[in-house]
Amino acid sequence: MSPDLSSTLDRLGDEIAELAAHLDAATARLLDLIREFDARGGWNTGFLSCAAWLTWRVGLDPGAARERVRVARALGTLPRLAQALARGELSYAKVRALTRVATPETEERLLAVGRAGTAAHVERIVRGWRRVDRLAEARETARRHTSRALHVYQDEDGMMIVRGRVAPEVGALLVQALAAARETLYERARATDASAGSADVSAETPTLAQQQADALGLLAETALHHGIDPGAPGERYQVVVHVDAPVLADPEAPGQSVLEDGTHVSSETCQRLACDASRVVMRHTADGRVVEVGARTRTIPPALRRVLHHRDRGCRFPGCGLPFGQGHHIRHWAQGGPTTLSNLALLCRRHHRAVHEEGYQMERQPDGELEFRRPDGRPLPEVPALPHVADDPIHVLRARHEAQGLRIHARTAMPGWLGERLDVGWAIDVLHPLAGNPG
Ligand SMILES: [Zn+2]
Ligand SMILES: [Zn+2]
Repeated sequence: MSPDLSSTLDRLGDEIAELAAHLDAATARLLDLIREFDARGGWNTGFLSCAAWLTWRVGLDPGAARERVRVARALGTLPRLAQALARGELSYAKVRALTRVATPETEERLLAVGRAGTAAHVERIVRGWRRVDRLAEARETARRHTSRALHVYQDEDGMMIVRGRVAPEVGALLVQALAAARETLYERARATDASAGSADVSAETPTLAQQQADALGLLAETALHHGIDPGAPGERYQVVVHVDAPVLADPEAPGQSVLEDGTHVSSETCQRLACDASRVVMRHTADGRVVEVGARTRTIPPALRRVLHHRDRGCRFPGCGLPFGQGHHIRHWAQGGPTTLSNLALLCRRHHRAVHEEGYQMERQPDGELEFRRPDGRPLPEVPALPHVADDPIHVLRARHEAQGLRIHARTAMPGWLGERLDVGWAIDVLHPLAGNPG
């Protein structure tokens, strides 16, 4: 290769390295913005998550979007790694790998790994690191599992004391059940207050701790009453709604809608549940006697549902596309909307709620396309408009970094590695706080 050509290619290589470092610095800024947007719930406008919003608004593929959000969150507690990325000294690929294992305690050491090694080295170290973490975690999980316990004993004054440690998923179930029981008790209390016409609603609202105690009692009672049977998975969350037909058609109409246990539900919720549900139509006389029970029918017949799934392929809400969903009547059947393909659209559970209960609107245009609007009436396009980009974005980026006092050049992100063989096992032994230290 002639010296001329070689120096031209060197310059080209330098230019690539410098621009890549600029992009990494800009990525740090992007992650800062994503972290703030995520923490402040800016995506919570009909989207399932910050990643789903990024996919829609920025055009990232879902995997990359989730990864950006994960790294953004992690960097919130890892200031050294964040700064190295912001200075263009550590590539995004390295930071992404390191944030999978780094904690505030190990950040400094891992930053040194990132500075010294190539991206491939970093990847291998992180993989070894995770193995040690996993072993430690498996030991920890086993220890936690054996420590599960529930103690119920009587205090000196006769009250019972309940104390325990349960697995996270059991705890989640308990918390959910307690919340449901609290809600029931609250509704009951409100109904009693209303029927007593009492003015002393403020009399004495129980504290949350007191409500929890009452809720636990209701849980125990309910469990014994129904026999200890969690039911088949499909039945566990089944909800029965009794609704007066006029209410379904017009929320303003007189009548009522209640859950099996008497809990009132909003007419919007009712409309959602009835939108794509099995129906058993019962006719009552005015005094409540059932005079006629119709056969159980699906609102949307199976053949039509298959065609609907085939046409929509997933949730039609902008930016969603979850591959399974419920059939939504664009104009509700109770208001005379037909159960036909053009009046139906597939929506996931989350977005079915958005449309029925959160004020999002959808309409089918004459050309067959769906048009979505936010609760305030602004359109929610399937594909958002592109942002304005300067004619020479690289120039703008470089100028902005210079204005920030960032000095980025071709060697800013160069690893310190000199070509020696990497001994991952040795490196982990030296670096990982838990390595070689079982138990
Ligand atoms: Zn619906
Ligand atoms: Zn959806």
